[in-house]
Amino acid sequence: MTLIIDCHGHYTTAPEAHNLWREAQKAAFKSGEAAPPYPEISDDEIRETIEANQLRLIRERGADMTIFSPRASAMAPHVGDQKLAVPWARACNDLIARVAGLYPECFASVCMLPQSPEADMTSAIAELRRCVEGLGFIGCNLNPDPGGGRFTHPPLTDAFWFPFYEVMCELDVPAMIHVSGSCNPAMHATGGYYIAADTIAFMQLLEGDLFSRFPKLRFIIPHGGGAVPYHWGRYRGLADMLKKPDLQSHLMYNVFFDTCVYHQPGIDLLADVIETKNILFGSEMVGAVRGIDPQTGHYFDDTKRYVDALDITSEQRHAIYEGNARRVFPRLDAQLKGRGL
Ligand SMILES: [Zn+2]
Repeated sequence: MTLIIDCHGHYTTAPEAHNLWREAQKAAFKSGEAAPPYPEISDDEIRETIEANQLRLIRERGADMTIFSPRASAMAPHVGDQKLAVPWARACNDLIARVAGLYPECFASVCMLPQSPEADMTSAIAELRRCVEGLGFIGCNLNPDPGGGRFTHPPLTDAFWFPFYEVMCELDVPAMIHVSGSCNPAMHATGGYYIAADTIAFMQLLEGDLFSRFPKLRFIIPHGGGAVPYHWGRYRGLADMLKKPDLQSHLMYNVFFDTCVYHQPGIDLLADVIETKNILFGSEMVGAVRGIDPQTGHYFDDTKRYVDALDITSEQRHAIYEGNARRVFPRLDAQLKGRGL
């Protein structure tokens, strides 16, 4: 039996009171006042938003569980500073913890981080520890561009990030490299910025030597790895030109791609070019692309259909659906074993 583990889902349908509090928090920050207290949100409100959306789709599409994190586009680290970012990250992560508490068989928690354009990683480390050590989270979403679409931060291979990586390794949790909303009108968030950031992150890793310093560090580059699998020859060639080891030994013990590519030819290419051990099933539902593909009659983000249709062995399919996720998220593996799975 294979568990179908979706490694990429966000709480895009959070209760309205949560979103309204965020607006009030930002308004108070702007006018120099204290933020209002966080609203009471009942378990029933959370159940309603989950059962009508993510849980319904998990069941309809035949998956078993989703690795679940706060809404990515609302992380918005470029808005305000740490005084705004820390309470916002805590509120979002606490809500994820409540979802996983209500549906422990169906959701495993991943946290967002209170990053800000001018801040170091101190409060991100504290929040990661709070979530993993205190609330049972299994990973985090790390934003390589807290400036929100301007890429003014140092590359992921820079010492700026090292204190955070040390704690990731200590806690044995991976990070999904995930940007948020774009404040750059030249970059559409989910169509331009996300895919560009995925590609940029991979190239940063290629140029550096991060994993010889942190051999246990693991990154998931979402959205199918951005443009990387399609341009695999370019990156292999650049590694050669830059006198780096071949990509397999340089990066691919530590870097993984999800299957959030919303058509069959794209998934076929991913599975053809990238080794099975580096691919994790993901759909990012309910997320960026919510419509039905008129060519197939199925939802674009029903990525399980494409993986099911791949011409691969059952061992490979098991790795993409379950085995790789358990390897990349050891804390998920431990939780599942604790439930006899
Ligand atoms: Zn996402």
